Amino acid sequence: MFDYLVVGAGFAGSVLAERLANQLDKKVLIIDRRNHIGGNAYDHYNNDGVLVHKYGPHIFHTNSSDVFEYLSLFTEWRHYEHRVLASVDGQLVPIPINLNTINKLYGLNLSAFQLEEFLASVAEPRDKILTSEDVVVSKVGRELYEKFFRNYTRKQWGIDPSELDRSVTARVPTRINRDDRYFTDTYQAMPLYGFTRMFENMLNHPNIKIMLNTDYREIQKVISYKEMIYTGPVDEFFDYRFGKLPYRSLAFKHETHERPTFQPAPVVNYPNEHPYTRVTEFKYLTGQEHAKTSIVYEFPKAEGDPYYPIPCPENAEIYKKYKALVDATPEVHFVGRLATYKYYNMDQVVAQALTIFKQISSKELLEVAVNR
Ligand SMILES: Cc1cc2nc3c(=O)[nH]c(=O)nc-3n(C[C@H](O)[C@H](O)[C@H](O)COP(=O)(O)OP(=O)(O)OC[C@H]3O[C@@H](n4cnc5c(N)ncnc54)[C@H](O)[C@@H]3O)c2cc1C
Repeated sequence: MFDYLVVGAGFAGSVLAERLANQLDKKVLIIDRRNHIGGNAYDHYNNDGVLVHKYGPHIFHTNSSDVFEYLSLFTEWRHYEHRVLASVDGQLVPIPINLNTINKLYGLNLSAFQLEEFLASVAEPRDKILTSEDVVVSKVGRELYEKFFRNYTRKQWGIDPSELDRSVTARVPTRINRDDRYFTDTYQAMPLYGFTRMFENMLNHPNIKIMLNTDYREIQKVISYKEMIYTGPVDEFFDYRFGKLPYRSLAFKHETHERPTFQPAPVVNYPNEHPYTRVTEFKYLTGQEHAKTSIVYEFPKAEGDPYYPIPCPENAEIYKKYKALVDATPEVHFVGRLATYKYYNMDQVVAQALTIFKQISSKELLEVAVNR
């Protein structure tokens, strides 16, 4: 008899399995329908021996010392600050837009103060910021919006930014200094031996059994357990009773090249040309030294594995109905990106899972106290 059946061995499921086994001495079966642990953060050495991320680049960054300290129990880190270039008007320029971006793009030599004036002169103030287009145009004006954001967003989401909720680009920063880091979080680092090794360390406990290549519905009736942690898609759990929750998906094209470096930055974005959105070269992320180099192209698409929940009022309405079912199913804990239909970064999923664990353990303590 297991105490917990954990569905999904990504961050959400693995954090909970680890905490339940280590802190509460629970017996846990963690199961995934894929043939590996790690969920979308899974990485592996390809046939040429280069460490790659199967489901696109995963870069760890967080402001939470709790999350960073927790994960540090299972990995050492390699300090890594992410940088991205965008291919615009035949040049590669830093993104997020900063002083160097504008100076290089227009052949100028503006100071920070002059850039502030420039952006203020091109920005188109809006009374109400409703869409993603409003967010960007009100900050950097139409021309930069067209060059950097409009087509990228159309490719990524399949709709024009003018029809996309403002939350999608709400966090696009513009900097008047020369800071060209993609993230500014306090902790920016990659697991020294990769994500999968970190997951292996998390799940390495005698109370945790792992079952791969298995959908939970195949074994649910033949295995006994007390409670379930579910990290798969919430609409699927309820047999799509209120219809499918829409997602954007991606196709990944992995390549290895017979040379040490492929491009001048970890990621190059292609807002305007090509059907793909960006190209990632993994060795920058992992720090691996190798005579060859591996890259991945990302092609956004409508169908396929669910990756990005599409934020818009209609989808929020559908999710609300599923959330009511979730609230009426207290014996199952719905955790993670797919189960809560929300785009979370890895650190946010870890934080969410740690919070759910706290709730579970205080309930346990209360029950023990009551039964005494
Ligand atoms: C292309 C891409 C790039 C990203 N880059 C970053 C980044 O740079 N930084 C960052 O912080 N975050 C990034 N993220 C987000 C990150 O992937 C998620 O935050 C994280 O993977 C969420 O973990 P999770 O456990 O909720 O879900 P997942 O990792 O999706 O794990 C859920 C698991 O459940 C399994 N499952 C589902 N249904 C069933 C079932 N019925 N039976 C058995 N198993 C099931 C799935 O196979 C899956 O392995 C990126 C996401 C994508 C798509």
